[in-house]
Amino acid sequence: MSEELKPCPMCGGKAAFGKTIYAPRKEPNAWFPDGTPITTAHSVNCLLCGVNNRGLAGGYQTQEKAAIAWNTRAGDKA
Ligand SMILES: [Zn+2]
Repeated sequence: MSEELKPCPMCGGKAAFGKTIYAPRKEPNAWFPDGTPITTAHSVNCLLCGVNNRGLAGGYQTQEKAAIAWNTRAGDKA
């Protein structure tokens, strides 16, 4: 099932999945790393302070990827 989300790194608030729908374009201006034009992007946002992890890419290809990114904290990686 869906990934368990850690609390917000900024305020400790509850996090939830968010989704951004991009209008179809003839010439998309955003792509996922694998080259697929972004039409629906997943992200995680804090329900308390509103911070989200859409970032520069505009979101993630799957809810799972968004969750993994949200749950990865700076300093987690060696
Ligand atoms: Zn927050």
